Amino acid sequence: MEAGQPNPGHDTRILLTYFQVEESLVEAVIERVKASLRLKIVSIGPREPPETAFNSSRGQYVSERILSWLRGFTARDRVFGLLNVDAYTPGLNFVFGQAELGGQAAVVYLARLNPEFYREPFDEKLFLTRIVKETLHELGHLFGLRHCSRRCVMSFSNSVWDVDLKPEHYCSRCRARLERLGL
Ligand SMILES: [Zn+2]
Ligand SMILES: [Zn+2]
Repeated sequence: MEAGQPNPGHDTRILLTYFQVEESLVEAVIERVKASLRLKIVSIGPREPPETAFNSSRGQYVSERILSWLRGFTARDRVFGLLNVDAYTPGLNFVFGQAELGGQAAVVYLARLNPEFYREPFDEKLFLTRIVKETLHELGHLFGLRHCSRRCVMSFSNSVWDVDLKPEHYCSRCRARLERLGL
């Protein structure tokens, strides 16, 4: 299940789209992610997810449908979505994000990373840090990493408190696997 070939000296390319997120926030996320991964992140600008991906009775997007929508933007590149919506996957009340393991598409949902969702005052720094952690987590899956039980951004988060507790970096073992992919 190799996600890609080592590509020394060349950054791995990934397309990025977003929905209901300010461009300044998107840029801040890109900068922080690039500090951890040798990625060339190419923004294709904002895109609106299809209505067919929305479950109106739950008021949430269906994450699998979002992933297949994202895949549709490109035949060969990887694609990452940053969507300021809430989403779920069958069997889970919600997800912070989802990725195809070693695949083509990954997404992070911002709704439950925002302190205001928990009736706490808006905190831009905390919001950004949570988004960056979940982005590194989902991109890790996209490049073939599974959940990790060490102190690692690849540890599974059941709640936003788990997100706050985990570090914003890969452990040495996960880091080594990414290095082998040229990341
Ligand atoms: Zn995960
Ligand atoms: Zn790890």
